[in-house]
Amino acid sequence: MEYMQNRINEMLFRHMMSNVAIPLIGMSLGAILIGFTLYARDDRPLDLIWMFIVHVAIAARIGLIRYYRPRLAVRYDDRKARCLALSAGLSGIAWGMSCLFLIDADVLATVLVITGVQAMVMGGVVTIGVVMPAFLSFSLPALLPIIIVLIWNGHLVAAVIALYSLIFLAIMVLTAYRFSQSLRRTWQLTFENEDLVVALTEASSKLQWLAYNDGLTGLANRSHFDDRLQLEHTRLKRSGEPLSLIMLDVDHFKRFNDSYGHVAGDICLQRVAQVFKEIFCRASDLPARFGGEEFIALLTETDIEGALALAEKVRASVSDLAIPHATSETADHVTVSLGVITVNCANLAAPSEAVVMADVQLYQAKLLGRNRIAYFDAAKDFTA
Ligand code: GH3
Ligand code: MG
Ligand code: MG
Repeated sequence: MEYMQNRINEMLFRHMMSNVAIPLIGMSLGAILIGFTLYARDDRPLDLIWMFIVHVAIAARIGLIRYYRPRLAVRYDDRKARCLALSAGLSGIAWGMSCLFLIDADVLATVLVITGVQAMVMGGVVTIGVVMPAFLSFSLPALLPIIIVLIWNGHLVAAVIALYSLIFLAIMVLTAYRFSQSLRRTWQLTFENEDLVVALTEASSKLQWLAYNDGLTGLANRSHFDDRLQLEHTRLKRSGEPLSLIMLDVDHFKRFNDSYGHVAGDICLQRVAQVFKEIFCRASDLPARFGGEEFIALLTETDIEGALALAEKVRASVSDLAIPHATSETADHVTVSLGVITVNCANLAAPSEAVVMADVQLYQAKLLGRNRIAYFDAAKDFTA
């Protein structure tokens, strides 16, 4: 929640910063107009001094903005932002000093000054109004001294103008507040929508990933394997190149789970899967989790000699992991059995036949004592 508020504050502040040039230009023109008009009429140095003070305030604000801008571009800082917002108060004080013109002033001076200051405050609603501290620090010191002087004058007309200015100020503060609130809500909705899109995209890509991969091992899942087998079967049928499958089953894995627990069982499967992943690393290889503690690797354009060499590498590598397995009848560590087949896809009625053949070889390897490889070269037999 606080993070969200910070993001909104930052956006509103940036909005104010990007609009700050317009009020400063307006302010300079307004001050020149009032200052010279009064000077042309009364020939008083006060008019020129006031105009000068307004421009000093403008210059100070420009200086502050230029000083903070590069820092703000790097990272928004709440404290600096507040400081910059409050610097609008410099202009407010400068404009408030125009109250000096209103002490026992005539109609022209009163109308000129009041109209000028009110125009500045009104302009501030849509520019700095998005950041309330900035708006208040400008509008209050700009208008309140004028209102006080008008009341002080003691004339009825001046008092009416003071009351009118007070109502005007209240309306402007309220309008600025509502404006900043509605912008705040707009940004909140924008950020919430953005966050939602990010969350949905993440969830959807995770779902997409899970539809094709196994969550425990990160290998391709069964459905991924089936799709790929179907594809390669069609492709290799035409090319006549061999297809090999290596099916792996962890020996006595039920006992491993019983002895060490399911969490240790999962870790063991992850380590076996890692071996599988590392050995079948060609772009055209597909190492997959077939189900439970069984894995399968699909190797295109690979003959039986190649497949056997890789299967032996897997068997030896898993054995070398030396994962203790005290209740195994085969060894004192985790071992695997593998069934390897090579087929010519043109001789298969369906791709699933290749899987059945690999499964038969795996069963053979189990029968022959586990921790070993059994194989069948169907490509040679049928194509010869
Ligand atoms: P064999 O040597 O004949 O293959 O015996 P086995 O005990 O390995 O075979 P069996 O099919 O009897 O048992 C397989 C076990 O694998 C049973 C099941 O609880 C376990 N298993 C399957 N999937 C997972 C898994 O994701 N995590 C864990 N920890 N165990 C699993
Ligand atoms: Mg099994
Ligand atoms: Mg097993």
